[in-house]
Amino acid sequence: MSGRYQHQRGLVWFRSDLRVHDNMALYRAVESCHEVAGVFIACPQTWQSHDEGDNLVAFRLACLRELQAALGERNIPLYFLELKRFEQVPQAMAQIVSKLQASAVYANAEYPLNERRRDQSVRQALREMEVAIEFTSDRTLVPPGAIKTNSGEAYKVFTPFKRAFIAQCGGADFSPLPAPRKRAAADWPGWLQIEGKDNLRQTIPATVKGYRAMPLEQGRLLGWQPGEKAARKRLKGFEERIHAYADERDFPGIDGTSKLSPYLSSGALSVRQCAQLALACNRGRWTGGRAGVDCWLGELIWREFYTHLLVAFPRLCKHQPFKLETEGVRWSADEQAFRRWCRGETGVPIVDAAMLQLQQSGWMHNRLRMVVASFLTKNLLIDWRWGERYFMNLLIDGDFAANNGGWQWAASTGTDAAPYFRVFNPYSQSEKFDRRGEFIRHYLPALQKLSDKQVHQPPPMAGYPAPICDVKETRKRAIEAFAALKK
Ligand code: FAD
Repeated sequence: MSGRYQHQRGLVWFRSDLRVHDNMALYRAVESCHEVAGVFIACPQTWQSHDEGDNLVAFRLACLRELQAALGERNIPLYFLELKRFEQVPQAMAQIVSKLQASAVYANAEYPLNERRRDQSVRQALREMEVAIEFTSDRTLVPPGAIKTNSGEAYKVFTPFKRAFIAQCGGADFSPLPAPRKRAAADWPGWLQIEGKDNLRQTIPATVKGYRAMPLEQGRLLGWQPGEKAARKRLKGFEERIHAYADERDFPGIDGTSKLSPYLSSGALSVRQCAQLALACNRGRWTGGRAGVDCWLGELIWREFYTHLLVAFPRLCKHQPFKLETEGVRWSADEQAFRRWCRGETGVPIVDAAMLQLQQSGWMHNRLRMVVASFLTKNLLIDWRWGERYFMNLLIDGDFAANNGGWQWAASTGTDAAPYFRVFNPYSQSEKFDRRGEFIRHYLPALQKLSDKQVHQPPPMAGYPAPICDVKETRKRAIEAFAALKK
């Protein structure tokens, strides 16, 4: 072993950080170990504990295949293992480490509760074998827990969190780390037996048990190109559009947002890479610079905020409301209405078009996520957890923290949720943000011929299903349901 290395052999345990550039754990491993291999452990809980569905799994497996190729070019093999349960991970990890004769493991921390528990058990198992394990903070710009109020507590409201974040990180260096250089080839086995029957292989399967295999069409999944190269290209392309972000981001008919969420969620892209690009456009400033850039950086801080909240308030991981008193809301259990919402058959065009966007592309514009979430939880008064779960099953960018945060915000059960009496009117949202109905017509061609005015609220003779509810009356009902909590 060369004197410059601390360990002869080290393993990088990849999870939601599927990239070679700016990957803290990978960087630490190549700095500290003479020989490096990667491992990815898939088990239903890796995705299913949070109900992540076929789209997300297929996207991540495709990202993994690209990661394997990129690592292969650097003589770093990537092993894949499928297990049934998280509980098996510590023992499997112990076997992998021992059979591959590694003395150190490197991983980037994951923050949902089940993942933290799993990592704690792996740490314990490896400690007993005297194998070093290092969890690095890589998913956020600042480790969760590092931004506190003066009294040492976690922030519960976004705006003061943002202020504190900028005060603390304003001058911080978020320069991304380089990808590892090509290393000398090492003698790693092609495959190994782990847990008796589960093989540790160097092939990434097309799918895993319990999920549909979804073939890529021209390298794309539902229109999305998986992998790190596509992520970097998309980020670079956004540089030209970032200045228009503040003006365009609310209009679903315009390609006004970055559409980087699937890459950030899978870790094909790091948040530091995003921050660095934006800060470079803003002379290093988080605020007080160009409006579009300030605004986009603000969204990256929302992402930080929701991830920080998960760690500070573990009950969120158990799908409990942040505002515990809202547990008392008497949600409707109208399954038929829920199904109509899921299928995009509510009779409210903007809601239906948005739900079709989700079905067809595995993604939904942020403005529409707020509109459909408000419609489900306020107008239909259906439990936000039904929507949260449905989203997670379809979103290609499913992220536990952002999804939970978004749903609780819309349902007024969350941290700094809008007051419960502020209920989105889907028709005015539609008129304001899809003024000429271009987005609606794209997903609902049956409404093609309606005027720009009628397309938002088709008249009965247009043949479109009647609205599932009266938005004014149901708004009142929702307000009463929340007001009843105070009595
Ligand atoms: P941009 O507007 O370009 O923003 C850049 C990045 O900032 C995003 O990729 C994302 O990582 C982050 N970001 C932006 N807005 C938010 C936000 N409100 N909260 C947290 N992070 C944000 N985002 C997810 O990544 N995964 C989810 O599962 C998810 N579920 C949501 C559910 C609801 C009900 C709502 C209201 C929002 C949800 N969001 C979720 C947040 C937001 O809608 C998406 O991040 C955004 O639409 C992604 O598109 P973009 O990459 O073009 O975003």
